[in-house]
Formats: sequence, structure tokens, C-alpha cells
Amino acid sequence: MVRESKRARQARMHDEYAILREVFPAPECALHFSNPLQLLIATVLSAQTTDRRVNTVTPELFARFPEAADLAAANPQEVEDIIHPLGFYRSKTKHLLGLAVALDERFGGEVPRTMKELTSLPGVGRKTANVVLGNAFGIPGFPVDTHVMRVTGRLRWRSDWRDAHPDPVAVEREITACFPPGEWTDLSHRLILFGRATCHARRPDCVECPLAATCPAAGAA
Ligand code: SF4
Repeated sequence: MVRESKRARQARMHDEYAILREVFPAPECALHFSNPLQLLIATVLSAQTTDRRVNTVTPELFARFPEAADLAAANPQEVEDIIHPLGFYRSKTKHLLGLAVALDERFGGEVPRTMKELTSLPGVGRKTANVVLGNAFGIPGFPVDTHVMRVTGRLRWRSDWRDAHPDPVAVEREITACFPPGEWTDLSHRLILFGRATCHARRPDCVECPLAATCPAAGAA
């Protein structure tokens, strides 16, 4: 591929994203929740498992422990039993209880609405904070997960695409600089959906890919 200017790359990004908007017109958070606390808990639980699996345990968890204070005072064994199907249930229970205690003691049980406050909570990194900001509060957030990392690398939407271990914060900064804030959350959703549906980690389906005409990695990923 001939070296692409920054302007040409950004134009291509917007063209490719327009196609993803058509393919995924109404993306949604795959985790089930009905308030910010539930989404925060579900997102923390989703580490090293699937959203679908998390959705199988959270109804019971949320019903049994509706408030942060309930979870903060929980018997760990009871929480472990509920989230057992997710794996790593002992460490996840420990994290959840620590998070609930911090929420209860420092924020009156309410989930805070800023990146700084969210990431001050134990076990909450930028990815989780961006999920909560964007999906629970409607505050622009761009969660960078493994799908976002892979897809933006193959499409060369980011300058560090050759890097085997790119810095997620740098990826977030570079990609969000190219799109309006109001688009960030859906952009992340669409890249994740696209990564799951077509641009798979092992065998990307370049033959059927709607972006194959312009993707620099088409047929070579
Ligand atoms: S053409 Fe292939 S590598 Fe490029 S985005 Fe599509 S599936 Fe991924």
C-alpha cells in the first residue's frame, strides 16, 4: 500500500465507519442492566468471560444485592455461589465486595460520573469507566477492548498498528480525536460487534467483509 497521508486515513476512517453505521444501525450494550450500579458490577464481572454469560448470573445477583451497601455487607460465600459460573469467582467476589465498600463509604452508594472518580475505585480501569460513562450516563466514552484494539489495528486507524502491545490509552486518544464525542460510545459498540461478526481474531472473514475494498489488511490478516 502506498503511504497514506493522515488526511487520507481520516477520510477513509469516516467512509469505513459510515459503512459500519449501516451494518449496525442501533448498537447496544450487550450487558443487561437497569441502573449505573448494575452496569458497573456487570462490567467488572465481564473480565475474562463473555457478556452473555455475565447476563445469566446478574439477575440473581442484582435481586439479592440491589444496593452497593447490600453488596458491601454480603457474605462472600453467597456472592461466590451466584457468580460461580463465570470462573475466577473467588477473586471476582473479592473485587466486587471491595468495590461495593468503596462506593458505599466514599460515594454514598452512588456510582460517580467522572473518569477520575470512577478510576479511583478498586478494580475499575479506563475501559470499565468508559463503558459506564457512555452507557449508563450518556457521557461520551470510548471503551477500548480486545476487539477495538484488533480491528483498529487491521484497519490502520491508529498509527501504532504494528505494535504487538499498543497502549490502550493512546489508542483511545488517537481514535477519539477523529470522531465527535457524541459518536464515541456507539463507535466502540460497532467496532466490537464488527470484530465479533466479521473481523475475527483468528480467521477474519475478508471475503464477506463490507470494508474489504479499503481495508489495508484485507486478505492478509
Ligand atoms: S477486510 Fe479482513 S482484516 Fe480487513 S476489516 Fe475486513 S475482515 Fe478485518
